[in-house]
Amino acid sequence: MQGFVLAIRKVKEEDLLVTVLTESKIKTMYRFYGARHSSINLGYKIDFASESIQNRTLLRLRDVTHLGYSWLQDRNKLLAWQSFCALLGEHLKEVNEHGGFYFHMLDSVAAKLSRGSAKRMLLESYIAMLKTEGRFHDHTECFFCGKKFNKTDNIALARGFLPSHEKCVFQPGFNRQKIADFFESGDTVSFENAEVEALFSVMLLGF
Ligand SMILES: [Zn+2]
Repeated sequence: MQGFVLAIRKVKEEDLLVTVLTESKIKTMYRFYGARHSSINLGYKIDFASESIQNRTLLRLRDVTHLGYSWLQDRNKLLAWQSFCALLGEHLKEVNEHGGFYFHMLDSVAAKLSRGSAKRMLLESYIAMLKTEGRFHDHTECFFCGKKFNKTDNIALARGFLPSHEKCVFQPGFNRQKIADFFESGDTVSFENAEVEALFSVMLLGF
């Protein structure tokens, strides 16, 4: 079975609780310490097997193979990827089964991450995720005061990419047309790199 590591928690000295997103499930498994076990890191794609532990409801994680990507050597890409995976792990905390969207989202980004900006690709995935989950808010009116944006307004984004007036959330906004392009096309091409950094910081506030 294959999956992406969304969380790792240390329990009892060197044992670990590892949460993995597979094609249809979120599995949290116990990994007993073993000096010769390969290391597991947040965001890694792994091949693994699981088996039940006697007298316990938990599964034991075994036969782990790390399925590497060339971009793992790029520290900035890896950090952006890991923060995205950690947020996704938090977001899916109460979920046991899913329809496959989340796995395919990570799988397709991971496959192309060596060829472009990690932050742009992850932001584009995030917008697609909000739309899939039905949590996407249109860019026509402010989420907080409910008033329509004027043509000259910048649009600030609150956590969850809720569009807002700058004065309603006390945050500097983005160019209105650029936000409209991003929200409609799901593509970050209109944004300068500095704006991508700012959008990424908003995303890091939480899914
Ligand atoms: Zn407002």
